[in-house]
Amino acid sequence: MITQNLHMHSTWDDGQCSIEEMILASKAAGLASVGFSVHCPMPFENTWECPKERLPEYIAEVRAMQKKYAGSIDVYLGIEWDATAEDLDISSYDYVIGSVHEIPVPGGTRSADANPETTRAYIHDCFGGDADAAAEAYFAELAKVARKKEADIVGHFDLITKFDEMHHFFDENSPRYQRAARAAMEKLVKAGKIFEVNTGAISRGYRTTPYPSMQWLKLLRELGGKVTVSADAHHISGVTCAFDLAEQMVKEAGFEEIWVLEGREFVPVKI
Ligand SMILES: [Zn+2]
Ligand SMILES: [Zn+2]
Repeated sequence: MITQNLHMHSTWDDGQCSIEEMILASKAAGLASVGFSVHCPMPFENTWECPKERLPEYIAEVRAMQKKYAGSIDVYLGIEWDATAEDLDISSYDYVIGSVHEIPVPGGTRSADANPETTRAYIHDCFGGDADAAAEAYFAELAKVARKKEADIVGHFDLITKFDEMHHFFDENSPRYQRAARAAMEKLVKAGKIFEVNTGAISRGYRTTPYPSMQWLKLLRELGGKVTVSADAHHISGVTCAFDLAEQMVKEAGFEEIWVLEGREFVPVKI
């Protein structure tokens, strides 16, 4: 059984509930430990980051909650770092999720996951409709997480497929997509990063299965990669969303353990 969720947002970024509400909901859902992974400040205007000047208050609140709930539920201080925010100091967190939400394109960046329209525009405006090229750019950016030594976990490996159950923007079986995703995965595995099986798109009604999808989970297993399970929860209703399904998929892909944060380090736990 999965008893930890290290991917949670709150009113400090684009989450809908307070830190304490998220902790109480997680405790009620049977979790033994949780972590907050606030969206890091980005080098451009957006609606989902925690601005740099507010990070100290965020840190103070999570640390206070850690103390308040000690002995009842373990609370960890994390950050969801974006590869675009390269020079941000992220050394003072208990753990770091390394993700790509915005993909650099000539003249700026484009969202990888805002809504189906932004994904469609990303493929059509920036790559003339060549979805493989759009995927190559995303995975090249994600591979940068391998170079970030503070990053422990790779966030939502194939996030660009968030809307694909309905819209089929990408062909995961095309040779170019496969090469790009595999190259990123190999680099990230080699760097020792842990891959999360992320159920966030299920709680928001976009998908019925977590990412990465089964074929990438199986490849991850083949490559000797590490895996964990997280909910990417933005609301109290999603703190353990589809954890049973995620655990079942992890086992089906051949994994016998998942990695969890225990104190200061990640350790494997049998499932
Ligand atoms: Zn994310
Ligand atoms: Zn997130």
